[in-house]
Amino acid sequence: MTVSQPVTIGVLALQGDVREHLAMLEAVGARAVTVRRPAELDAVEALVIPGGESTAMWKLATAFELFEPVRKRISDGMPAYGSCAGMIMLADRVLDAAPGQETFGGIAMTVRRNAFGRQVDSFEGPIEFDGLEGEEGAAGAAGTLHGVFIRAPWVEQVDPAVRVTARVTAGPGAGRIVAVRQGALMATSFHPELTGDLRVHGRFAQIARAAR
Ligand code: GLN
Repeated sequence: MTVSQPVTIGVLALQGDVREHLAMLEAVGARAVTVRRPAELDAVEALVIPGGESTAMWKLATAFELFEPVRKRISDGMPAYGSCAGMIMLADRVLDAAPGQETFGGIAMTVRRNAFGRQVDSFEGPIEFDGLEGEEGAAGAAGTLHGVFIRAPWVEQVDPAVRVTARVTAGPGAGRIVAVRQGALMATSFHPELTGDLRVHGRFAQIARAAR
């Protein structure tokens, strides 16, 4: 019997909470590596785009000659998961973008940057997440995640191809879409990498393995 190699998942390491994602990916059994140059992108099977600042990430990706290569890998079907700023980077359309701001795109949705900021900058609370059935590593009840939102975007609109996997249940922005899936692409407004809950990364690693 052959034992399959762990899936290699990159974390776009230009800016943002890279280390936290690397640790979560290793904890769910992936080989996690940083991606700062095109050759490093070529070596990964899937990519995490961390939280941070989407305008900084866009400018740095352009300066590091990664912008077009990442966009192309995503449109060629590479699995990708974006949290917060990473969600913005995966959105086909952005509201309240900086002048000229571009995204990698891939998920047929419109996100609004800093959407909760008009009410409250940062907050935490329980999120009902559909699509984590059978995932191990739960810190709380099945399907419930602790959502950490930091100057987070929300999803204003999705095309029919996009599955909504979580909405805010209470408090500021109740009812707003905060997690989505489209094929091998996933995005969350919140930061599971800042909690001990491995389920979102576990699900992404499964998607990456299934895409082999
Ligand atoms: N507001 C940030 C942006 O527009 C995202 C914040 C975050 O990733 N925590 O990119």
